[in-house]
Amino acid sequence: KKITIAIDGFSSTGKSTIAKQLAKELGYIYVDTGAMYRAVTLYAINKEYVSENFLNVEKLIDDLDKISLSFQFNATLGFAEMYLNGKNVEKEIRTLAVSKLVSPIATISDVRRKLVLEQQEMGKNKGIVMDGRDIGTVVFPDAELKLFMTASPDKRAKRRYKELIDRGDDVNYEEILHNVVERDRIDSTREDSPLTKAIDAIELDNSDMGLKEQFERIMSLVAQ
Ligand code: C5P
Repeated sequence: KKITIAIDGFSSTGKSTIAKQLAKELGYIYVDTGAMYRAVTLYAINKEYVSENFLNVEKLIDDLDKISLSFQFNATLGFAEMYLNGKNVEKEIRTLAVSKLVSPIATISDVRRKLVLEQQEMGKNKGIVMDGRDIGTVVFPDAELKLFMTASPDKRAKRRYKELIDRGDDVNYEEILHNVVERDRIDSTREDSPLTKAIDAIELDNSDMGLKEQFERIMSLVAQ
């Protein structure tokens, strides 16, 4: 029987890596909700509604109806890529520039309302793995399996640093660590749907856990 799997947790805890692998193994649909917040942020950057010291909430809210988000499966990559108003933005949304501005944008209630509704629509049929910050608490409070992933900030920053360097981005470790910690702070303290572990979520600290071990552990939970 197909279920809904909600994966939440701090930044760069490897949520999407494990979620993709689970979806593949189970034949489920994978939805990366962070990509949606990132795409809205990219839209705001392109419109110059946001920069490092400025955010025009009103303008962004006025434009929400004009922001169309969709996922399209890329068979070569084996997962769905993010499209913003018909354009593939999968690469652009992963830059540090977007990472630096996304958490303030994710505090805006109207933005959250729009994205949560779209996420609930995408997951209305079982057989879905969704990762984010509020999936087990807000989007699918009735999910059959909820995971909450954590790891030490240093381990997480190292993983993210490697990812960005491997793509050829020019970044330094200190700024990645700062971004990871700062995003967690904003995400955990915002008024609307703060990042928090759902009471019925299973916490998984993967600071010292390999991917294979995590995967096997989660698959045994799915089987229960
Ligand atoms: O998952 P990812 O790191 O790509 O998410 C980027 C940011 O989007 C998070 O730091 C958070 O501010 C926001 N987000 C959120 N709620 C979600 C998913 C992401 O607020 N469900």
